[in-house]
Amino acid sequence: MYEPYLAALADLFYPQWCVSCERRAGDVLCRPCFESLPWAGSPTCERCGVPTALETPACGACKNVDFAFETARAPLRYEGVGKEVVHALKYRGYTAVVEKLAAPLLAEAVDGPGKFDAVVPVPLHRARLRKRGFNQAALLARGLARRINTPVSDTLEVVRSTRDQVELSAAERRQNVAGAYAAGTRTRGRLLIVDDVFTTGATTSACATALLRAGAAEVHAVTLCRTC
Ligand SMILES: [Zn+2]
Ligand SMILES: [Zn+2]
Repeated sequence: MYEPYLAALADLFYPQWCVSCERRAGDVLCRPCFESLPWAGSPTCERCGVPTALETPACGACKNVDFAFETARAPLRYEGVGKEVVHALKYRGYTAVVEKLAAPLLAEAVDGPGKFDAVVPVPLHRARLRKRGFNQAALLARGLARRINTPVSDTLEVVRSTRDQVELSAAERRQNVAGAYAAGTRTRGRLLIVDDVFTTGATTSACATALLRAGAAEVHAVTLCRTC
């Protein structure tokens, strides 16, 4: 008999569910889940952002890879609660994680305002966009752009459909996305690509190539998570 009353009271203090453990929480993550966020930490490779033991300008994994972007950063590792946050956004449409959690983390990862001329989301293919109803990278880019007071440029488009990358090796991924993106307008200055997850850097690099071809001086990238 008291249960509905208690539930209503709980709703007042804990108005939502933790996206990771699905218990009631006062925010998008409950405190224990927030405290177990898998921070990428430091030091990291200055180029690709992978956590490293010592500071290094280019790690063993990326020094022989020809990335078109200058640097890539990610505040979280793509595992545990970090992975749950991405899945909540991408597959369950829980867009509140952008404003409450992802945008502040991305802003911190790029060190605040004034460093970029525009923030550029990685585009989704039209068919995928229709199916999902939104582009998670575009939501992240908008949330970040507001925080660092930088305009968003939606210039990138998918010009060729690609296979799902999950099962592909790094070399296959590069081949899969080569030439898949193009900028619809001329670009200039220092640009910041935004996406949800950095895996091999193939997508980010293909997007950077498209932006450089369209006139960008230099391209950097930030993603919420990265595989390590
Ligand atoms: Zn939780
Ligand atoms: Zn590296």
